[in-house]
Amino acid sequence: MAQPGTRFPESSRPVILVVGGGYVGLYTALRLQKKLSRGRAEIVVVDPQPHMTYQPFLPEAAAGSVEPRHVVVPLRRTLNRCRVITGALIGLTHAQKRARIAPVEGKVFELSYDVLVMAAGSVARTLPIPGLAEHGIGFKNVGEAIYLRNHVLARLDAASSTDDPEVRSRALTFVFVGGGYAGIEAFAELEDMARYAIEHYYPRLSPADMRWVLVEAMGRILPEVDLDMGAWTVRQLTARGMDIRLNTRLESISDAGVVRLSDGEEFPTETLVWTAGTKPNPVLAATDLPVDGRGRVECEATLQVRGMPDAWAAGDLAAVPDLTKDEPGATTAPNAQHAVRQARRLADNIVAVLAGQEPALYRHKYVGSVASLGLHKGVAQVYGVKLKGWPAWFMHRTYHVSRVPTFNRKARVIADWTLASVFRREVISLGQLQDPRREFVFAANTGRAGQLPPAQAAAPSARAESA
Ligand SMILES: Cc1cc2nc3c(=O)[nH]c(=O)nc-3n(C[C@H](O)[C@H](O)[C@H](O)COP(=O)(O)OP(=O)(O)OC[C@H]3O[C@@H](n4cnc5c(N)ncnc54)[C@H](O)[C@@H]3O)c2cc1C
Repeated sequence: MAQPGTRFPESSRPVILVVGGGYVGLYTALRLQKKLSRGRAEIVVVDPQPHMTYQPFLPEAAAGSVEPRHVVVPLRRTLNRCRVITGALIGLTHAQKRARIAPVEGKVFELSYDVLVMAAGSVARTLPIPGLAEHGIGFKNVGEAIYLRNHVLARLDAASSTDDPEVRSRALTFVFVGGGYAGIEAFAELEDMARYAIEHYYPRLSPADMRWVLVEAMGRILPEVDLDMGAWTVRQLTARGMDIRLNTRLESISDAGVVRLSDGEEFPTETLVWTAGTKPNPVLAATDLPVDGRGRVECEATLQVRGMPDAWAAGDLAAVPDLTKDEPGATTAPNAQHAVRQARRLADNIVAVLAGQEPALYRHKYVGSVASLGLHKGVAQVYGVKLKGWPAWFMHRTYHVSRVPTFNRKARVIADWTLASVFRREVISLGQLQDPRREFVFAANTGRAGQLPPAQAAAPSARAESA
């Protein structure tokens, strides 16, 4: 239901606070800076990162098909008419229109605003599984994508440089938990990269030496597409030698890196990636915004927060009524497709309300999903049309390059793909990125008892690195 927002006099310059510079935050701020003349409003964007991350390209960044810098969009460059604060919202009292912000450095400060856009997204939804917090890693940001790429390639280096079968098998066992599109894409893209690297550059290893295990609690993967497409994907991945465990849960991982599954199997690994879903950003608990039973901000179909006409929310953290479904209480799913469209509607509604007009309702029918499963491999279901293999992969690439924000990023991503097709993809581990001070610390401590040379001190333990 539309709620009348505050109409600010033309002479005043309301402050629009956008919390989060991700999909919703970036697209909303971009549209607001385009539609509101300079003197009409001050737009403030707060995010702990100086960039927006185009998450659908993270699997390709991890696999080396796209340069990681090209899957992020710098906020200060793109939002050149907004004030960008690099910091985190740590609390908010909308009743007083005051936000508490912790900048990257320095004291927490309060910021007064007139209109709020809550777009702080989601975080990994973890479970209290023994050892998970200590040894697991997520797959939601560019740092994790870079880390995993280096980590997987470093495991190949380690396995190729030892004759100890136990060390080799542990290094070459990769475990992913969660079979949604983010998990499946990361799992399949990284395996594809590792297979390629072994075939071209590791004569002492064979792809058959690797063990890639996907653990999924449900009886299927890719719930975003029909059952037959999910089953086809399982067959494809199994044919590549990957081990897909449906109806199975991760029970624990010990300090020695031994994973225990609910089917009773136990085996050692140095890689545990958690991609089993997301939950709304927990910062909401430090606000007075109304939340539903799943911790999402309760919204009207206009994207206004329920009962708070000057507060708006969208994206992964918002419970937005899905007007295209007949079921009462249905809400839109947390995905980029809704996030982008909601941002557009949200910005237009703010502009309308500032001009004294009625906000419009958000309505979008989900059109389907595209997922890449490695170079030239994919699965897609869009407008009911089902595609498999190369056509799906091609659709994945063309769709996402058309969606990644700014011409600059589109051009860079296309250039990356073109260069990779001519010169082959880059499969080198920049292991020093994981611990850049190691060598210097060694040099500074040379001669002290117990100091190992850097290569040995670097002996990989996913457990130590990801802790
Ligand atoms: C690997 C991966 C692949 C994906 N692939 C697809 C796909 O193919 N198709 C699809 O539709 N969807 C995909 N998604 C989902 C899609 O990316 C999300 O649904 C979308 O990003 C949600 O947008 P958002 O703005 O709500 O959150 P985000 O884009 O995550 O933005 C949230 C922002 O808030 C910031 N933030 C966090 N805490 C604070 C705080 N306290 N204060 C201020 N700012 C804060 C974050 O830094 C971030 O920039 C994928 C997700 C992942 C992880």
